[in-house]
Amino acid sequence: MDIQKLVKPNIRSLRAYHAEEIPCKVKLDANESPYSAISNQRSAISLEKNLQTLNRYPDPQATALRKLMAKELKVKPGNILHGNGSDELIYYMITTFGGSVMYPVPTFSMYGIISQALDEKKIEIPLDKDFDIDTEKTITAIKKYRPKLIFLSSPNNPTGNCFSSERILRIIKATSFSKQHKGDSRIAPTSSLVVVDEAYQSFSNEKSFLPLLDKYRNLIVLRTLSKIGLAGLRLGFLIANEEIINEVNKVRLPFNVNSLSQAVAVEALKNKKQMRSYLTSIISERKRLFREMEKIDGITPYPSDANFILFRAADAVRVYKRLLAKGVLIRDLTGVIENCLRVTVGTPGENTVFLRTLKQLI
Ligand code: PMP
Repeated sequence: MDIQKLVKPNIRSLRAYHAEEIPCKVKLDANESPYSAISNQRSAISLEKNLQTLNRYPDPQATALRKLMAKELKVKPGNILHGNGSDELIYYMITTFGGSVMYPVPTFSMYGIISQALDEKKIEIPLDKDFDIDTEKTITAIKKYRPKLIFLSSPNNPTGNCFSSERILRIIKATSFSKQHKGDSRIAPTSSLVVVDEAYQSFSNEKSFLPLLDKYRNLIVLRTLSKIGLAGLRLGFLIANEEIINEVNKVRLPFNVNSLSQAVAVEALKNKKQMRSYLTSIISERKRLFREMEKIDGITPYPSDANFILFRAADAVRVYKRLLAKGVLIRDLTGVIENCLRVTVGTPGENTVFLRTLKQLI
């Protein structure tokens, strides 16, 4: 029996997301936080309580968690949808609205992978030489392809920079529903939903797009707890107007976030002092890493607003392999950006090991 013949063509040609577990001493490949953002004692009590009710399904609405997140983000609980990671919410959005799906490249690979999995057309627009949005090309492509969804990861993974706010705003305005002609009930030809993926917002000085949600009905903001010390919980949030939330909620699997994740996240969000101090440390370590990397001949680090640094190195694959041989795992991006590698900011000790090993190799 030929299983391949049974697989849908769009899935047959799909390459799975690259997420291997490679044994190493220093793991700086996946943009995780080096610190678990939870106080042991409080989470233990909360977990204990929840272990006794594991015979029950989780709260399908994640009521307590959404309420806390709403307070944190200064929106209403009705403006938030919870996902098993923000990956899942990307899946739900493309399932709900379909394509074309537009995004600049290079960017987070899941926008493309999920579009292909759902057999939706992808429109990829190259970033400009400063890794910022090429507004002219994007606007032209929007008019031509009329995408339903536009994904803008800012700060962008893997380049690390924020896109200029004015450029993002131009795209939101160019595709805003308010462009509808008076008396014309059809959606304007250029109407699109713009998803600003703020997975790395906590590491950036740029303003969030959340305050603009009231003004632009075509704006969606994505957030995740994965980068701030809770990647293992798998929790992401989609924030948008209620009409969008209600539509996407139709495709959400009823019990998508398990009860242990809900309970632990609630505890973590109640005590944000610890989380904030970890963020401060990661940001100051990013600055140190950048300064030190700039001093190494043959390496060009790119400025970052996120918890990782993209850098160019002559013979990058060799550098990646030799770092790994010394127990330091980073991300090989040479297939995406020529001669580029990406290192996640770790603890001060891990960063020092990375820098020392890198200096020895170069
Ligand atoms: N968006 C961006 C830009 C990311 O880099 C990632 C993780 N690499 C995600 C979303 C997904 O995060 P998660 O599913 O862990 O919430």
